[in-house]
Formats: sequence, structure tokens, C-alpha cells
Amino acid sequence: MKVLFVVPDLYETRPRLCTNGWATTLISVTPDGRVLPCQGAQEFPAMAVPRIQQHSLQWIWQDSPLFNHFRGEDWLPEECRACPERHQDYGGCRCQAFQLTGDPANSDPVCDRSPNHQVVVRLRNAPPNPELIMRSPQQPVRNTNSLPVDDAG
Ligand code: SF4
Repeated sequence: MKVLFVVPDLYETRPRLCTNGWATTLISVTPDGRVLPCQGAQEFPAMAVPRIQQHSLQWIWQDSPLFNHFRGEDWLPEECRACPERHQDYGGCRCQAFQLTGDPANSDPVCDRSPNHQVVVRLRNAPPNPELIMRSPQQPVRNTNSLPVDDAG
């Protein structure tokens, strides 16, 4: 078994080459048939996720809009097009750009050349959220104080 994981990079000044570059290496099929170049891509707004029930894997990989949208360099934002490091990270993680800036077509804000880098700096400097409690052998359950209350029952 191979365990794949992504190390958080919020303390770096350059982003990762996420998934080895969009649609170069990874293809992920969810149990309900959605096919993704990255597990986080299913959350992008206005981008149709192809389904294995409707298309062949070959069509999805080669021709689907989702797999082609961020493939290669043509889509890169201005700061990345002019950057000598663009072949090392292709603008970083599309999902992190979406989650932190609202647009997956932005450069990854981990990069200190990104116009949105301040978002990451603010996150680094923010005080810890008291609602989040790490599980441990001494405290094996999560904090239930912030869970919604079911008052129907
Ligand atoms: S500007 Fe773009 S290509 Fe250059 S290091 Fe930052 S994210 Fe990578």
C-alpha cells in the first residue's frame, strides 16, 4: 500500500509542485464516478467534473475541460509567466489558491511573489482557534461544543 499525503507549506516562500503538475501524473476516481486531476478539484465552482459513467478515461485525461484547464503553462497568471521558477512549481497548488483566494487561477498565495501572499502571512500570524482541539491519547474525542444542535428530537 502506498500512502499519499501533502505536507502543509504555509510557512514556505515557494509553493509545491502540487500533484507533480496539474494533469501530468495523477488521476483520481471517486466512489460515485467523478474523475479528478486532484481530490480538491471537485470543489471548484463552475468547472464541470467529468464522470466515468459518461466518458472514457482516455477522453477525460486528454480532452476534458477540467483536466486541460490548468495543464501546462498557457493558463499561468502574469507573475508566474515572468518567473524563472515557473517550471519548478507551475504556479503551485490550484486547490490552495482556490481555498485561500477564491480563484483557482491565481498563483498559489504561499509564494511570496503572489499578489495574495498577505493572506498566508495573516494565517501564519493569527492566534490559534480555541474551537479546534487536537486529539490525543488524553483527549481522544473532538470538541463537541461547536457542533450544530439537533433540536428536532
Ligand atoms: S511566481 Fe508563480 S511560478 Fe514563480 S515561484 Fe511563485 S508561484 Fe511559482
